[in-house]
Amino acid sequence: MEKKILKIYIQTLGCAKNEVDSNNLLLRFRKFGFSDKKTVLIQLEPVFEASQADIIFLNTCGFILSAKEESLATFFELSEYKASGKCKLLFMVGCLAERYLEDLTSEIEEADMIIPISNYDNIENILANSISDTLCIPDLIPVENICENEILSGKLWEYIKIADGCNNHCSYCTIPLIRGPFRSFKQVEIEENIKKAVKSGALEIVLIAQDTLNWGNDINENFIPLLENLLIKYPNTWFRLLYLHPKRITDRLLDLFSNHDNLLNYFDIPFQHVNNIILEKMNRSIKKKNIYKILEDIRRKFPNAVIRSTFIIGHPLEDQKEFDELVKFIEEVKLERAGFFKYSHEEDTPDYNLTPIDEETIIDRVNEISAIQDDISMSWAMSLEGKIETAFIEKQISDDLFSSDSKYVYAARTFREAPDDDPYVYLESSEPLEIGKFLKIKIYDSVAYNNIAIPASPVSES
Ligand code: SF4
Repeated sequence: MEKKILKIYIQTLGCAKNEVDSNNLLLRFRKFGFSDKKTVLIQLEPVFEASQADIIFLNTCGFILSAKEESLATFFELSEYKASGKCKLLFMVGCLAERYLEDLTSEIEEADMIIPISNYDNIENILANSISDTLCIPDLIPVENICENEILSGKLWEYIKIADGCNNHCSYCTIPLIRGPFRSFKQVEIEENIKKAVKSGALEIVLIAQDTLNWGNDINENFIPLLENLLIKYPNTWFRLLYLHPKRITDRLLDLFSNHDNLLNYFDIPFQHVNNIILEKMNRSIKKKNIYKILEDIRRKFPNAVIRSTFIIGHPLEDQKEFDELVKFIEEVKLERAGFFKYSHEEDTPDYNLTPIDEETIIDRVNEISAIQDDISMSWAMSLEGKIETAFIEKQISDDLFSSDSKYVYAARTFREAPDDDPYVYLESSEPLEIGKFLKIKIYDSVAYNNIAIPASPVSES
């Protein structure tokens, strides 16, 4: 039987949840081959450059207008590889594909197929048919377990998605339309994924979902025991929780943070706004006083904690008065990290029947409040100078970044820096340091939002 290798590339846009979906698709593509059972066996090999790929997938985001525009622009960039390069098959998958399947299928000729998330279960068969047609090899079918070796990512941190979908129906949000109702993943699957990641060298596990703390509610289980078991089972692994809906933050959850050093004191809580009328219209099931209470509880119990949040600016009910209220809150509570996103007027959401405020006002407000937060975050970064922390190095970076005498500069992270979104700590050293191990560092300076540090003890002792 003739063996052929086809190279496959997946480009991912959007959030961490999409990144996990892309990794899962790649794992499946590695595992499956395609054969006509007589003459040919085709294997898929992942590559990291679109220019090298025979098959390209774009995993899109369709959450808000800017994400939709970016998805389409990226798709048309990738379509150039099909027009002029090696690429034979080009697919669009992900949230945009799910949300606008019919329109995209009829309008985008460059795509060999638009595959919605709800069709991922069948994706090997779809691929088999497409390869069959393109290479003119009739009757190709997927063959499982082609790649016997277990695939270990070797990443130092890993997103572990524990659920998909959302039942909260925030009035501005398209996620429930795209991803459907909240579905917890099975505990055994979650545990197996974490086991693999730790075995493969992950020092940090980042648990994610659209509504992470809601895990278990649909299957008669509870998130707290799940997490506690993991914290006990992997005492030397950092656990970080992202996307914590404020209405689900309880004393019991905070007790877990108190009782387990490996649960990082990093609280990623999207508040979205603080004005009570807007919060109610947004269907956030929380009031301003609850937000203050959460912040007070966290600050009291964990004086070192990092609180990160996101806010939507320019909701149709946000007049100058409501915006000023949010600004006052931001100035007062001094969150370590915060992102401000323009309200996006999305069809099929409950807020779509409101009259949006003008774009220019929204942009001005985003700029104004972002500048205030920038000062807060930079002052906070400066206030960390002198602190000794546990960190791990992710990679070596260019040593001409600084004009110091240090021969080596590394990108490191402490509990304060979540992967992807937060800035690295730059770690300088006169001798080479080992990547992928915890070590103590001393922060001695900062540049904008980035702290600069040196090893706090001789490397051999770390
Ligand atoms: S919690 Fe609200 S904003 Fe977040 S995904 Fe669910 S509906 Fe959207």
